[in-house]
Amino acid sequence: MVRSLLYILVGLFLIVFLRAAVGLIGRALAQLFEPESENRRTRSVELKRDPVCGIYVSAETKVRKTVGGKEYYFCSESCRDRFRGE
Ligand SMILES: [Zn+2]
Repeated sequence: MVRSLLYILVGLFLIVFLRAAVGLIGRALAQLFEPESENRRTRSVELKRDPVCGIYVSAETKVRKTVGGKEYYFCSESCRDRFRGE
């Protein structure tokens, strides 16, 4: 009686363990074989033009200035300091 209970417990444990393992492997394989995920493709960095030297900089740059309600992005602080609006 106790023995059969033990077998059932071990069996249940094995099933849970195997299902978790298969789930993990499945997810790892999906990540490996999935080309570029839609999410990653649309997260590309937006480029803004530095109005002083004309170079394109990431919109995530910290070097920016708001003039007349419009935001300008710069490659460097010296460009930003030279900018007095368009
Ligand atoms: Zn610049």
